[in-house]
Amino acid sequence: MFETRDSFFIGGGWARPQGAETITIINPSTEETIGRVPEGTEADVDAAVAAARRSFEDPNGWGGYSPQQRGYALNRLADELDARQGDIAAAVSSQNGMPISVSSQLETNYPSAVLRYYAGLAASSEPDERRVGFLGAGDTVIQRSPIGVVAAIVPWNFPQALTAWKIGPALAAGCTMVLKPSPETVLDAYLLADAISAAGIPAGTVNIVPAGREVGAYLVAHPGVDKVTFTGSTAAGRAIGETCGRLLRPVTLELGGKSAALFLDDVDLDLSVIGEALYSALLLNNGQTCFLNSRILAPRSRYDEVVEAISTLAGSMVIGDALDPATQIGPMSTAAHRDRVEGFIAKGRAEGARVVVGGGRPAGQPRGWFVEPTVFAGVDNAATIAQEEIFGPVLSVITYDNDDDAVRIANESDYGLGGSVWTADSGRGQAIARRVRTGTIGVNRYLPDMAAPFGGVKASGLGRELGPEALAAHQELKSIYV
Ligand code: NAD
Repeated sequence: MFETRDSFFIGGGWARPQGAETITIINPSTEETIGRVPEGTEADVDAAVAAARRSFEDPNGWGGYSPQQRGYALNRLADELDARQGDIAAAVSSQNGMPISVSSQLETNYPSAVLRYYAGLAASSEPDERRVGFLGAGDTVIQRSPIGVVAAIVPWNFPQALTAWKIGPALAAGCTMVLKPSPETVLDAYLLADAISAAGIPAGTVNIVPAGREVGAYLVAHPGVDKVTFTGSTAAGRAIGETCGRLLRPVTLELGGKSAALFLDDVDLDLSVIGEALYSALLLNNGQTCFLNSRILAPRSRYDEVVEAISTLAGSMVIGDALDPATQIGPMSTAAHRDRVEGFIAKGRAEGARVVVGGGRPAGQPRGWFVEPTVFAGVDNAATIAQEEIFGPVLSVITYDNDDDAVRIANESDYGLGGSVWTADSGRGQAIARRVRTGTIGVNRYLPDMAAPFGGVKASGLGRELGPEALAAHQELKSIYV
């Protein structure tokens, strides 16, 4: 049980709470309370933004760091996170139900690797560029400056990885930050704060205020913030986008998804070959991953085979306590979220789809908010379960007639975040991938690449994270005509 009276990390140390509310953290595998921390307040946000501004403007603080020094600091932070890997993985899995086999990679090694990637970009990037004038009247010097104080808001599903996606480019660009973790996952944020202190990052450069959505909304609208970077639901993203639109404040929005996996008629469905890649693309983190391909598009000629392969995969998953290394599917993050996922399963049945595997709560799990991996067949793409983001281990298999039909169905979605094409012919797969309206898509695999832009189109978001594109999104451009 983790208990503290400190509410937020500011200016390089934990501060006493200014409010009376408490965040209680419950382990979704056991339903036991595992932590209690004070909830950050608007006054805490004021103090955190002021600390970030001071560090940004301090020639002896972060404001005085050269790009090479920023790179060195990011590498040191990655080292300090590596030194805490076991604690971080356990904290994440015991808060949000992520199988520890996943958190031991994607919430530990992976965030450090992202920070090291941005350390390299910081050290190698040139802040200024000189371009030859177009009409020969003179050249232009393009100055790239850090945008300022960044408000970063993250969800509970991949708390450390998504935080690294924000810290890496922001610090590499020379910005300072106020980070608001989700109330479901604050314990790992305390470990991150320890790592930031131990890495010797100047006080006030990264400030952390654990709090809920109202305090998040206050942070987004704060007059001391220069840019907002948000990952979470489309509903919250719309509200944040409205605020930033009114304030003309730059904003990056990474939102929900309902991505399609297109199985072409030449696909090899041998699970010993593609099973692991399918697990990452379809079921990672108990289905609680934004880019998952929860709509399976199967050619009419091979529909039954695809249903059988997907059902075999889903039915073979080891369900259990997230801290058990054998677990492949852990619980839903909260009781309310499990109710929501079960509501979608009921709706799928009511709208006429057929449950092939799963559909209920697993036997042998008397405690915890578990849902069986569930595969629906006979799903119409217009059905609720094919159109709305469920954010649980629920897959819908939809039939199509030919490649054009598959692309049309894939694009009949409000969302456009991920996707995949499964085929024996990679060239054919890439040609189909180009026609799907989405921000990212894989051929015979799906996992984001930290050196390439990641993000969504349509209701999946605005702007891109990762790659040099995310660094650029934290810079102001000024053209000096010389
Ligand atoms: P959520 O939108 O409820 O909350 C996300 C974060 O935003 C939390 O920290 C929350 O406190 C805060 N928040 C909520 N409303 C806010 C507001 N109006 N102003 C400021 N802050 C606010 O989402 P969630 O349930 O925590 O996460 C699941 C969602 O996140 C899913 O829709 C998923 O697809 C999405 N997601 C997207 C990506 C991506 O990269 N595109 C990655 C992971 C998760």
